[in-house]
Amino acid sequence: MKNWVWGVFLFACVPTAADADDYLRDLTDKPFAYVSTSSKWAINPVPVCWEAVDPQFQAEREAVKTAVEATWSAHSKLRFSGWQKCATANSGIRIGIEDSAANAPHTMGLGNKLNGVRNGMVLNFTFEKWGAVCQGAARQACIYNIAVHEFGHAIGFAHEQNRPDTPGECLKLQGPQGPNGDKVLTPWDKDSVMNYCNPVYVNDGKLSAGDIKGVQCLYDGIPCKVDSKGMPQ
Ligand SMILES: [Zn+2]
Repeated sequence: MKNWVWGVFLFACVPTAADADDYLRDLTDKPFAYVSTSSKWAINPVPVCWEAVDPQFQAEREAVKTAVEATWSAHSKLRFSGWQKCATANSGIRIGIEDSAANAPHTMGLGNKLNGVRNGMVLNFTFEKWGAVCQGAARQACIYNIAVHEFGHAIGFAHEQNRPDTPGECLKLQGPQGPNGDKVLTPWDKDSVMNYCNPVYVNDGKLSAGDIKGVQCLYDGIPCKVDSKGMPQ
């Protein structure tokens, strides 16, 4: 989630109601989220491991697991297993922990492109060199919320603002970042945890209705339907 701090401070990129109506109309014939279907994991549960298991970060590692289980897994059949120290050759999502001004939390690709990649996901637990806003009382929420976002990437979700139908108000402030999806599964979703233009940072760690529809469509085989206004049904 590189440069996510922008998403914290730039709240003025919410599309107007008129704009929203326009692209909702355009999307009524399109199913549901911005995902890379070719990056969908073919295995379930998806193995997860930690590159290092420093005892001082046990609570933080638990918080990440809790965040993923309370969001992506709670709303779909997608599960994650392991959560132990990575073996030398370990398939699945490999998580490194780093606090570096030059290395914001991120993933090295979307979904199965992370399979077995060392430090395929990088999270920050201390925020001393990056993300000063996450220091102190905000630290726990940042760990949780950023985990929700990065695991969105790790299951195949691109940034919502990368979509071709991203409204201009958002693009003025948040350019596309990272890999694109190949399919839009929901109408452009201001509230998505994957949207830097969400006025609520990472939607306060809660999946939007579109995020939920997206993960269910991608992993549970639930058809992605929209109503006459283009909203997820
Ligand atoms: Zn991101």
